[in-house]
Amino acid sequence: MTVKKPVYLDHNATTPLDPRVLEMMLPYFTDKFGNAASRSHSFGWEAGDAVDKAREQIAGLIGAVPKEIIFTSGATESDNIALKGIMEYYHSRGNHLITGATEHKAILDSAKYLEKNGLRVTILPVNPEGLIDPDQLEASITDDTVLISLMLANNETGVLHPVEEIGRIAEKHGILFHCDATQGVGKVRIDVRKMGMHLISMSGHKIYGPKGIGVLYVRSRDPKVNARPVIHGGGHERGMRSGTLNVTGIVGMGAACEICGREFDEEVLRLRGLRDRLQKGIMDQLDEVRINGHVTERLVSTANLSFEYVEGESLMLRLKDDIAVSSGSACTSASLEPSYVLQAMGQPPELSHSSIRFSLGRWTTEEEIDYVIGRVVTEYTRLRDESPLYEMAKKGIDLTTVEWTHEH
Ligand SMILES: *Cc1c(COP(=O)(O)O)cnc(C)c1O
Repeated sequence: MTVKKPVYLDHNATTPLDPRVLEMMLPYFTDKFGNAASRSHSFGWEAGDAVDKAREQIAGLIGAVPKEIIFTSGATESDNIALKGIMEYYHSRGNHLITGATEHKAILDSAKYLEKNGLRVTILPVNPEGLIDPDQLEASITDDTVLISLMLANNETGVLHPVEEIGRIAEKHGILFHCDATQGVGKVRIDVRKMGMHLISMSGHKIYGPKGIGVLYVRSRDPKVNARPVIHGGGHERGMRSGTLNVTGIVGMGAACEICGREFDEEVLRLRGLRDRLQKGIMDQLDEVRINGHVTERLVSTANLSFEYVEGESLMLRLKDDIAVSSGSACTSASLEPSYVLQAMGQPPELSHSSIRFSLGRWTTEEEIDYVIGRVVTEYTRLRDESPLYEMAKKGIDLTTVEWTHEH
């Protein structure tokens, strides 16, 4: 069987829209174009009903009630409201925020902004497997701590934080817990109450919904949580996020969540099987490959692998027409910066440079995985055999004593 190329294995960056989701959205671009806030005619009611239904679908997936669903433009905005809006609303309680070194930039940059404005921020380190230490989290709590923000699943490595334990710690100390659940939705069962989460961020385009729509879950009782708005205006969404509702996006987000819930068990099983097949297929043939992140406490769809002796970019360059993946480095104009996530896990820069993230999705097939295994093994072996580092290692030179420079 032939495989359609390039094979898309970058689902942690974005997912294709599910055609079933598109079908649900289409009428709301044309016939059903009303403003969900219009209360005086059927156009508005129709849009309003669609929004209500989406709130129910989303709430149903995460164990919330519909009014706890606040629509935003994406998880970046949800993260911004969760940090800035919460710290501002609860400023009389204190000025300390706790987060982690491997969080998404939407969290880390918001935290940096708050710190510049006089707040105290603790950034918890992670161990080599990418996990925070719950004891260290608890020890960092002070009388001034208002909020803990730690993600469910890491976008680069797939590592899963012990969120139930984090929730218990937050509860014990009367602190709010925000969880960026963007990568976990549809792959990890989420129950916001059981997991002690007061706020969570979600994004449409990571779960086969449209881009430009996101959700912030904000708990409405025990305790009722509030956030100052980041965007001011007509008082939509319990006053926390103004602006005419993106009805098509909301309908898509609702449909996407419903499918995630309905197909959860098969999807998780299928993705884990394919991911393990990919890892095994590559690692059985290559001794120089390692898994980045905790082997079991990890998303079923993600394999972040380090390929010793070669640069991830070089390998990706050879594969780019055939396989769409992302590497452990972010290309900036001046330099190749190793991934801050892998660096926070204590990985030496040269290994971060040699990392590739494979993230699988709803339409990934066994044939695609077998094709990818073959291409990766072939191209890696070629590059490795050309690598002076591999030559040196074969001669028994200790590579940790070599000085590294990286040029673009
Ligand atoms: C993709 C992602 C975001 C940003 O989501 P957008 O909807 O694209 O703004 C935030 N956090 C995590 C963990 C993500 O993977």
